[in-house]
Amino acid sequence: MPSSHLSPLRLTIDRRRAEFADPEFEDRFVRHFLPERNAQLKASLLFSAFFYIVFGVTDLTTLGLTATAWVMVALRVVVGIGALAGYVAVSRNPDSVRVSIRTTCAVLVLGLAVFPVLCWYQPSAMAWNLMSFALILMAVYVNFPNRFMYAVAIGVGASVEFAAMLMIQDSLLPEDLLALVLMLILGNALGYIAASRFNLAQREQFRSSMLLQQLADRDPLTGCYNRRVLQSGLLDAELARSRRYGTALSVIMCDIDHFKRINDSYGHAAGDQVLSGFAGLLQSMARETDDSVIRYGGEEFLVVLPQAELAEAQSLAERIRHAFANTPTPIGGGAYVSATASFGIACVPTLHDAMPDKFDALIETADIQLYAVKREGRNGVRGAVVGATADAPPVRA
Ligand code: GH3
Ligand code: MG
Ligand code: MG
Repeated sequence: MPSSHLSPLRLTIDRRRAEFADPEFEDRFVRHFLPERNAQLKASLLFSAFFYIVFGVTDLTTLGLTATAWVMVALRVVVGIGALAGYVAVSRNPDSVRVSIRTTCAVLVLGLAVFPVLCWYQPSAMAWNLMSFALILMAVYVNFPNRFMYAVAIGVGASVEFAAMLMIQDSLLPEDLLALVLMLILGNALGYIAASRFNLAQREQFRSSMLLQQLADRDPLTGCYNRRVLQSGLLDAELARSRRYGTALSVIMCDIDHFKRINDSYGHAAGDQVLSGFAGLLQSMARETDDSVIRYGGEEFLVVLPQAELAEAQSLAERIRHAFANTPTPIGGGAYVSATASFGIACVPTLHDAMPDKFDALIETADIQLYAVKREGRNGVRGAVVGATADAPPVRA
């Protein structure tokens, strides 16, 4: 489960670069679409390898079966082989963003570096070559999935190289050269707009779906996951993973002590602040990528700790208990409220032979432990192995 809360800052899109401003969130976005992106890239690689080679026929018809024409065909085959090598690299590394982006750039740079060489030897077919170049530009900006900035750099760089080749060749009338330069500018401008719009739209859509997901999964007061996450079976999946790999799984049920008194003495708003403070503490002390913090009820929270043995869960709960008891919550106007909390832990240890089918078994055990702490006077930690007859010794304040 993704664990980090989405702040508005994380969701900011840098419109100039057509990427999320936060590199970590951009990476999450790219990874989310990586299978789709690689499928599109592989199709584009096969497509371009095929046409790059097939257009060798035009070299042979324009120049006849000359040595130059065969060299050009050979160059086309080199580009085709480059594209196929890219295809293999992407197929072998389906989870690598780096391979995906590098393949795109390498194949485009190779194809576009060779193209002016092909055109150099066919000044008579310049109109056709210009048209081909415009279509290749479209592939650079639209068909090949790439970082927007890289697409722009490759498109503009290739256009400058193409125009320079024509100027050096000096086979065009000045007015034709001017028209050609304007066409290249137009082609890049249209490509820039299309690629920018596409990249921005894709990110805006991703941002909306992430926000909706957050609204559905998170409690608005504390930013923790809500009960729906438990009910939707996401934690059963965590249990299934533990069962499959024989790894430990622990949960900590936490409940603020005498919370009703805090509401009664300081007001509901102050109560809310204590709740948020406690939730913030839980989130900051849990492991960001592995653990999940769920608001289970009013002032009750569940912390799910994959791969944590009972002793580790007890030690974390004890650290949280200690930190909360010793950090009064500011409630405005210079006032502070001190509170304590009680913790009940359930653990399924590594290679446990009686792994429960349902997550409910963990919650039930943790609940029993929590209420034992409450009975014993609160502000404490107790834990047990799920299904064990004897409880683990309580950890006391
Ligand atoms: P114990 O130590 O036995 O847990 O006692 P307690 O007072 O914490 O437990 P009890 O279940 O009696 O009271 C919980 C209170 O939490 C009652 C309810 O009004 C309050 N509460 C639930 N949700 C919220 C909330 O979102 N904000 C505030 N301020 N209070 C809440
Ligand atoms: Mg309570
Ligand atoms: Mg309670």
